[in-house]
Amino acid sequence: LSCVGRSRLSTKPTAGPAVIERIARSVREAVDECDLDLRQVQAVGVGAPGSVNPEKGEVIFSPNLPGWEHVPLQKALTKLLDRPVRVENDCNVCTLGVYHAELKAKPRHMVGIFLGTGMGGGLILDGKLFSGFNRTAGEIGHMVLEVGGSKCGCGNRGCFEALAGRAALFRRIQCGQGRTEDALDGHVGAGSKEPAERRFAQGAQARGQTGGTIVEEAAEYTGIAVANVINLLNPEVVVLGGGMIQQLEEEMMAIIVETAQDYAMTGTWKGVEIVASELGDDAGITGAAVLAQGALG
Ligand SMILES: [Zn+2]
Repeated sequence: LSCVGRSRLSTKPTAGPAVIERIARSVREAVDECDLDLRQVQAVGVGAPGSVNPEKGEVIFSPNLPGWEHVPLQKALTKLLDRPVRVENDCNVCTLGVYHAELKAKPRHMVGIFLGTGMGGGLILDGKLFSGFNRTAGEIGHMVLEVGGSKCGCGNRGCFEALAGRAALFRRIQCGQGRTEDALDGHVGAGSKEPAERRFAQGAQARGQTGGTIVEEAAEYTGIAVANVINLLNPEVVVLGGGMIQQLEEEMMAIIVETAQDYAMTGTWKGVEIVASELGDDAGITGAAVLAQGALG
């Protein structure tokens, strides 16, 4: 797989049905960029946040897209693009990308964990994507790691995402310094075009000890999450990806591996690899291409 053209558009989640038109526009722009015609494209793969029914191509529910319930995304995009379309959950798509492009589909069992604003996961069991009874398997971000801990966007408390997600870390860096949001924003350059993770990394560096400690703590929580995954599924490989790992790999990976081995049951982690993905931001688009290939049968 190689990338021949790309296009990036903001989602504008409040735009309702226009979001789907924006996705179609982005596909057309990427195709145009590499001087191809849409008719030459054999299939389109899409990763959507939330719970997705891949057989129906329907987004059942998406917490970050207001009003998105039972949206027939595949049908709508097929109509707009006149190409076969396949839709999957975004973290599943990232996992497919890592599994096929990076690991060459060698391990039988693999878990992908993606750290960013949300923390998501994807499971490959016996060489196949596992999505569970209600298509919601892999919600690693909502594994409770601290009873009565910080409030999570899902309504629960103490979820992995609420303890170590990007938003949680920003908030804690602020609180640790007792500064107003404006002061922190000034410090880490909010509103700039840089990715939030880069700004976060800069903010953490600027905070010195406090920032460092908060990042280390996030790495420890991540290590505990990895240990739980190893105890439960005993995969051959756990791959960590997403913006936070991309920007803070050096600061986080060693702590994640060490903590995972500390917390996993003796014997369960022997030979299990815990690695950072090299695909970075491209895990999603790579996986979407893998998904589209599947549409060709
Ligand atoms: Zn949660």
